[in-house]
Amino acid sequence: MDRNSAISEVKGIGAKTEALFHKLGVYTVGDILLHYPRTYIRFPEAKQVNEAAEGETAAVMGRILTQPAVRKTRSMLITTAKIGAAGVDMELVWFRMPYLKNQLKPGSTYVFYGKICRKGSRLGMEQPAVYGLEQYAGMEQAFLPVYGLTGGVSNNLLTKTIRSVLSEERLFWDYLPAKVRERYRLCEYNYAVRQIHFPADMDTLTNARRRLVFDEFFLFILQMRYQKEKRIRDANLFEWREDSFVEGLIEKLPYRLTGAQRRALDEIRRDMRGEFVMQRLIQGDVGSGKTILAFLAMADASHNDYQSAIMAPTEVLARQHYETFRTMTEEFGLKIPVVLLTGAMTAKQKRMAYEALQLYPNAMIVGTHALIQERAVYDNLALVITDEQHRFGVRQRETFAEKGCHPHILVMSATPIPRTLAIILYGDLDISVVDEVPAKRLPIKNCVVGTGYRPKAYEFILNEIKKGHQAYVICPLVEAVENMDVENVTDYARRLRDIFPEEVKLGLLHGQMKPALKNEVMEAFMKNEVQVLISTTVVEVGVNVPNATVMMIENAERFGLAQLHQLRGRVGRGDVQSYCIMVNASDSKTAEQRLSILNRSNDGFEIAAEDLKLRGPGDFFGIRQSGELQFALGDIYQDAAVLKHASEAVTELLAEDAELASEENAKLCRYLKEYVKQEQHQMNL
Ligand code: ADP
Ligand code: MG
Repeated sequence: MDRNSAISEVKGIGAKTEALFHKLGVYTVGDILLHYPRTYIRFPEAKQVNEAAEGETAAVMGRILTQPAVRKTRSMLITTAKIGAAGVDMELVWFRMPYLKNQLKPGSTYVFYGKICRKGSRLGMEQPAVYGLEQYAGMEQAFLPVYGLTGGVSNNLLTKTIRSVLSEERLFWDYLPAKVRERYRLCEYNYAVRQIHFPADMDTLTNARRRLVFDEFFLFILQMRYQKEKRIRDANLFEWREDSFVEGLIEKLPYRLTGAQRRALDEIRRDMRGEFVMQRLIQGDVGSGKTILAFLAMADASHNDYQSAIMAPTEVLARQHYETFRTMTEEFGLKIPVVLLTGAMTAKQKRMAYEALQLYPNAMIVGTHALIQERAVYDNLALVITDEQHRFGVRQRETFAEKGCHPHILVMSATPIPRTLAIILYGDLDISVVDEVPAKRLPIKNCVVGTGYRPKAYEFILNEIKKGHQAYVICPLVEAVENMDVENVTDYARRLRDIFPEEVKLGLLHGQMKPALKNEVMEAFMKNEVQVLISTTVVEVGVNVPNATVMMIENAERFGLAQLHQLRGRVGRGDVQSYCIMVNASDSKTAEQRLSILNRSNDGFEIAAEDLKLRGPGDFFGIRQSGELQFALGDIYQDAAVLKHASEAVTELLAEDAELASEENAKLCRYLKEYVKQEQHQMNL
């Protein structure tokens, strides 16, 4: 068995289980090993009998006081034992486990793990797990993995399967050159994979994770720079007029551009008239007004008789841009054809869009991934823009660029990161920063509340709706998950239906819905036909409904602050007062402290940095900082140091062996090709 073996080759996996795994995206042994735990359960430190409290799940250390007894009821055998220490005793009960009678020796001490309940006047436990003292001491160090699941696959099944796979000697060859591993003191790959699933202790876990995060960043940066180091910029063959067309449009806008918008726009326009084609990143916090920059650049292209295209990461966002651009061209009295092309369109609609690409050499084209699929053939493409750049951005950008003849490239991102990291992640792009939000805007009013505040929040939302406004309610999950006390949109929407009066229309939105349905819901929300949108974080990127004034976020404690900041950015986009209600369902003080950072700052990067300071370097599970630039484990903020190391390692490696042709880099070269293929595959999904 190796990492490419089908999952069905693992012992005990039949056709039914195999189908379940496929739903999780797990086809091979390699896939299941890369299905990393979301978090871990740890066994608590063992307590003394007199320290146990009713209702808690605890490990209790106690001496067996008397010979355990077995009694027989009509249906089963019941074993009871008494443990005690320091004058307090506790009664333990087991069903159908009579053999314990001979295993538990009076006078010996064991650890019992389970829920503490009341047994008459004293405390007791039912069906606790029993461990020897030494055995439990070992377990206190251990971490039990908790995996992300879909229907039908239990954590137990995943744990068992992964454990069984990992019992094989060696599943991967370590593709990282020994030199790199030594210099950055990285542990061996098989070891890292084993330890990320079943860590022996915190140190091993930290080490294993660092190795895997390094790999993610390293491969990402390497594929970006491999064979491109020496590439020079393409000459700009497009001819653009020097006239006041764009100035004329700016004058007709209902607002004044901010200084930062002006600067970015000047840079874009200068690039497009320069010696080489533009390769620029526009980085601007949520709400800084990036869309209008894209529109003006695209209008400029049309005015010069060229096509331009903008690609958005979601269907919802693409449609929104399409509507915005169409309205603007109409209002400005421009005769520019605006073409929409997305994956969710019907075959006929798509065919018409393809024809339009051939028909209109000055079209503004708006779409999703569908823009880079084979069948989309452009006629005269001079400018490509990607909005809300994300994980697979680099490859996409390239495929996209290949659709034109060395077109100008503009990338727009809302992820606030410092320049040093942007340079690593965005390769050789020039960077413009839009570090100003429109002045007229009122700052969003924030509050962090407990779940008890909900009735007031609903009343507040209702009041806003009466004023003609709208609201978002965000939950982390799509539907209920076993053993997880976290809000989900499906049940939440049902609950709200009973709470709000009938005339308030509710909408439900999550990533697992069919694209066409998502569009419908989103369009209804944009038109204020839906007043309250109950959604997962799919609205995180780009959505612009200025009439929405309330953002209520359930289980806010589970989100990274940078992500909350993005979510909050969905409101406060118009000129009326907006509100963000963060519901903290935990009673943890740190959670409250973290969330209150958002009250103090409106600067995305400052927020992410503060969050890290509070949480400390070891606290890296469960919460992600950023939704954009998604890596399986790595987090660009938290793992900024590893990111820098990975970048340094790539630079050194390519300086020595730009083609990766040497013997010692052969494995890496092979692995890299697979990695690129995999990414292309995911991109086409
Ligand atoms: P983002 O940078 O997050 O993509 P958008 O481009 O969606 O932000 O802009 C957010 C809102 O701000 C839009 O409704 C847009 O019309 C408005 N807007 C953009 N620039 C300005 C400005 N200079 N003054 C006032 N409003 C603006
Ligand atoms: Mg945007």
